[in-house]
Formats: sequence, structure tokens, C-alpha cells
Amino acid sequence: SPSPSDLSAYWMPFTANRDFKAHPRMLVSAEGMYYRDDAGNAVLDGTAGLWCVPLGHSQPRIVSAVQKAVATLDYAPSFQMGHPAAFELADRLRDYTGGRFSQIFFTGSGSESVDSALKIALGYHRARGEPTRTRFIGRERGYHGVGFGGMSVGGIPGNRKTFHASLLPGVDHLQHTHDLTRNAFSRGVPQHGAELADELERLVTLHDASNIAAVIVEPVSGSTGVLIPPVGYLKRLRDICTKHGILLIFDEVITGFGRLGTPFAYDYFDVMPDMVTTAKGVTNGVVPMGAVMVQPHVYDAFMHGPAGIELAHGYTYSGHPLACAAGLATLDIFEQDGILEHAQSVVEYWHDAAFALRDAPNVIDIRAIGMVIGIELAPRAGQPGARAFEAFRRAFADGLLIRVTGDIIALSPPLVIEKAQIDELFDKLGKVLRNLD
Ligand code: PMP
Repeated sequence: SPSPSDLSAYWMPFTANRDFKAHPRMLVSAEGMYYRDDAGNAVLDGTAGLWCVPLGHSQPRIVSAVQKAVATLDYAPSFQMGHPAAFELADRLRDYTGGRFSQIFFTGSGSESVDSALKIALGYHRARGEPTRTRFIGRERGYHGVGFGGMSVGGIPGNRKTFHASLLPGVDHLQHTHDLTRNAFSRGVPQHGAELADELERLVTLHDASNIAAVIVEPVSGSTGVLIPPVGYLKRLRDICTKHGILLIFDEVITGFGRLGTPFAYDYFDVMPDMVTTAKGVTNGVVPMGAVMVQPHVYDAFMHGPAGIELAHGYTYSGHPLACAAGLATLDIFEQDGILEHAQSVVEYWHDAAFALRDAPNVIDIRAIGMVIGIELAPRAGQPGARAFEAFRRAFADGLLIRVTGDIIALSPPLVIEKAQIDELFDKLGKVLRNLD
């Protein structure tokens, strides 16, 4: 293993840096459901990378599609010109949404998708002659990336504290997300709590709808601890937004591309947002890419509204040829290999295996929806997050990758996981949890 000083020029994400230097963990290759570390150990991927590898690692058809693309057209600008794969991928994504999202705007990441969607929302209202609609509403514990727009609508206390003076003005956060975390081991969507969405009405009254541009939420908050909305919660948000002419944006960077066993979470909940932000799984994590998917009424107003808009917005890597190749191969595999059907066929087994841990020491809640599970541990006195982090460390040492935020363990494996690997995952995790003080 390289010593920490050999690595010192690489500025890793702030949150990981200190621990990594103390305990370097190096991944050197990956295949299917497993990583391999620099000592040659296999590590079962319980998190699909960072929620971004639904089809498993180094998927041969994606590898060859990207190899072919890089040898054919390595890069093409997307200003005033294009290339066929970008148009093809946009068409395929539109079809994947059943035609409901007719326009696709490509970005390079989830953060870029969120900031683009917020700009589209502002442009939409301006084009419709409602320029005062500039406020946004997010949710406490919502995560929408690290751009200034995403941090502003996001509800991550650390980001808000450090950067508060520079965040967008006029942003509120729906509270009560924490109330959704004590579902008392309810499986799937909790039955109670839809009325928590009524807080949106209070904010609309407080600020007047004529000042509000959009509400943005993750349908299921992922990286802040698998927070599952109760039955009816998202529908109420939809109804209130519709009533007041406010756009509803679902941030599906995590929940898109099959994570809940449906193409998108809006299918699972049967609630249609006006826009969807996505990234990660769109290319199976192989080449960075994101997308904003827009319903026709938003696009039409935005592009052809009477008031007109002036906007220059696009990225060097919008519709990158390699990302498009990976995206097309990803969609092919979803279809050809029946990935959603496979996920649906193991989901019950997956939830059963998780709920078998309900009596393990320190487990105070288990939340499971589709191929996502959150296991919440009681914090150690005076050391929030320490217990779950110890679980992460021990699991990795035993050949299992899990993700932790605070004292919540999140599991989100590639959707191609088989029952034997579900057994392996919970075998290892069970041993870790049962031996953790
Ligand atoms: N939105 C959500 C819901 C996310 O989970 C993430 C990343 N975890 C982002 C936005 C930001 O995506 P990226 O890291 O690709 O910028």
C-alpha cells in the first residue's frame, strides 16, 4: 500500500480525508458485484459504488461501447453542433419515461443537474411573465449536491453553516423530515404522516405563491439516511404545487434507474413532478453524466414564452460522446437483461434479510424501500456517528462495502445482486453488528 505521504498531493473529499490517511483503503479493480483491494481481497459492493452502479462493475457491454466510442469520436462540443449518440440517448431516455419527459438537458453530474433545474425553473416563470417567482423550497436533510444552488436548497446543516452568507436568498426548508426517520421498523412506505406535507401550505401563505418558483425534494432521501415519505406525502406536495402554480422537482439522482424497482421513483409513488434531476446510474457510473428531464409544458414555456429569456447555460461536457455511449449501453442492458424484473424478484428476500437484523444490538430502526435499506444505530454517548463508522471500518476489513451517514448504515447494492450475495452481505453485516459495542 502507498504510505499516506505518497498520497498527499491528491486532495480527497474533505469528509473522507482524515480517516483515509489513517487507514488507506485502495480499490484497484472491480467486476460484477465485487471490488478488489490492493492486497487482492474481494470486497462485496453493498453500495453500488456511490449509489451509481446498478448493473454491476466493468459490465462487458458497457466497457466495449465506451472503448468503441473513444476510438471513434472522443469529444464533440454541444454548442451549435452535436453528435448522433447525444440525440439518440435523449430519445431513449424520453422513451424510458414513457414519453412523459419530452426534453432532456445533459449535464456532467448530479450537482450540475440540480443547479440547471433551478435555473430552468426561474426561466420558466420569467418567460411566463411571473418574474417575482424566485423563492425555492427544499427539505430539511435534503441533499442536492455541492453547487451553490444545490447547497442552498439542500438541508445539510454543515454546508449551510459554512456557506450561509453566499447561499441563494429566499429558500425555505420543509421541516419534519426527522419525524420520518422513526418509522418503528415499518417496511416499505410508512402509513402515517402525510399531513406533514401540509407545512408547504403554511410556507405558501407566509410568502405568497406569486413569489415561489419551485419545490425540490428527493422522493426518498438517500445520502442523508434513507428517509422514506409516508403514503400520500409526495402526492400532497404535488397537489399544493399544482394549486399554486409552483413547479415540483424530484431529485432522482439516487432513486432513478431502478433503485426502487421502477424506472424512477415517480413511477413507484405514482406522482408526476414537472422536472426530474438525475445522474449516477444513467451511465452505470462509468462516465460522469447527469440529466434534467423536463415535461413539455415547462420546456415550451421556457423556450417560447411571451416574455422571453436570456440565458447562456450549458457545460463543456454536456452530452459527452463517451457518456452517451455508456448511457445507451446502460439502457440496452436494463431492457435486454430485465434488470427491473430481477430487482423486483429479489426485493422481498432483500427486505427479509435486513429485517432479520432488527434484534441486533443498538439497531433502533430499519427502513427498506426497493433496493435501498437504512439501518439506524443508537449513537454512542457523546460520539455521534462513531458507532456506525466503526461498523463501516470492520465491514470493509471483512470484505463488505457499506455506506454510513451519522449513525445510519445505507445499503444500495447493484440491482443485479443475487440471493447468495444478499446472504453474504447480511452474514458479514450481522457479524459486525453483533460484535459492535
Ligand atoms: N442529488 C442527490 C439526491 C444526490 O444523492 C447527489 C449525490 N449523492 C447529488 C444530487 C449530487 O450529485 P454529484 O455528486 O454527481 O454532483
